[in-house]
Amino acid sequence: MAPTNAIQNSSQAGKYTRSELRAVLQQRIMVLDGGMGTMIQQHKLEEEDFRSEEFKDHPLPLKGNNDLLSLTQPNIIYNIHKDYLLAGADVIETNTFSSTSVAQADYGLEHMAYRLNRASAELARRAADEVTRQTGCKRYVAGAVGPTNKTLSVSPSVERPDFRNITFDELVESYSEQVRGLLDGGADILLVETIFDTANAKAALFAIDLLFQKSYERKPIFISGTIVDRSGRTLSGQTGEAFVVSVSHMNPLCIGLNCALGAIEMRPFIEAIGKSTTAFIICYPNAGLPNTFGGYDETPEVTASNLKEFATDGLVNIVGGCCGTTPGHIRAIAEGVKHCQPRVPAADIYQDYMLLSGSKHCQGPGGDGSPGAGHKHGRRDAGGALGDGPVL
Ligand SMILES: [Zn+2]
Repeated sequence: MAPTNAIQNSSQAGKYTRSELRAVLQQRIMVLDGGMGTMIQQHKLEEEDFRSEEFKDHPLPLKGNNDLLSLTQPNIIYNIHKDYLLAGADVIETNTFSSTSVAQADYGLEHMAYRLNRASAELARRAADEVTRQTGCKRYVAGAVGPTNKTLSVSPSVERPDFRNITFDELVESYSEQVRGLLDGGADILLVETIFDTANAKAALFAIDLLFQKSYERKPIFISGTIVDRSGRTLSGQTGEAFVVSVSHMNPLCIGLNCALGAIEMRPFIEAIGKSTTAFIICYPNAGLPNTFGGYDETPEVTASNLKEFATDGLVNIVGGCCGTTPGHIRAIAEGVKHCQPRVPAADIYQDYMLLSGSKHCQGPGGDGSPGAGHKHGRRDAGGALGDGPVL
């Protein structure tokens, strides 16, 4: 029987969505949407389009604040969502990548954060429900939680490596406001994405967990990191495997990678993450590496054939696109993976070993099967075993 909104609004909504998504993911590879910025750019919007009537007297420039368009040009955002859904996306992301008060402060719109998130989630909800009705295939809304423009692990000052322009608690408060807006607006899933600083992501995840404990039904969590270059590390220096260990306490339904790299460069890191988690794997690369003008040239056919190869090799459960991808890419991707079997996550990988992660990860007592392994790897100050960075 088709799920109804009545079920979604019941007290069992969160658990229901998780088991429902798990059932679909065991049957087939699901498709996420593609780039939002790419599609907004095509409208060639000017300052007055971003402002609309409500913000016509705002003292700071607003051009480029794509998230604001959910309030000032809602039809454009709604139509982009619909284009992706009709191209075959099972899951669409809300237009909220920079909708925290921290990120919006750049535009003097920090006070708008809750409203931005709620309005964006409502728009995506409306589009998803409309296409669900039209096609009979249930669509989901993932509330997008981005990294913000301030990082806990990296100093913005070259002279003062110890300096930080934000605290963990400030980020938790800002993320909490964002997530409340997303959940109140009807998001089915929370997607903490484009994670280049794991400490920031942990602030978002901590905020989410607090809300789930206190006032909201639990919803499935997706977590997606960003490997910044072929070194295979995040910007805060972690390997993909260490990143997985750092966030595994949140029991994400899906974990994986997005942005920064194209599918080809991402492959070894997606493989490595898949070997270190019992969660489903999500992968939504850019349309190749950027060209000299910062644009993306990879055609839908190329992106789709790369991701189809991932699917055929049993590496992925959800695929989609990030920067430079369009509904054309998503249509080709959906078509490409349609008949591929989904990856089957391992039931157990680390058994009951203690796992630690700094810039690298390691297993605790007995982890590598050799006598004394616990002594060698089990300590947090295990020097080379964990790498040079902080324990995250
Ligand atoms: Zn991207």
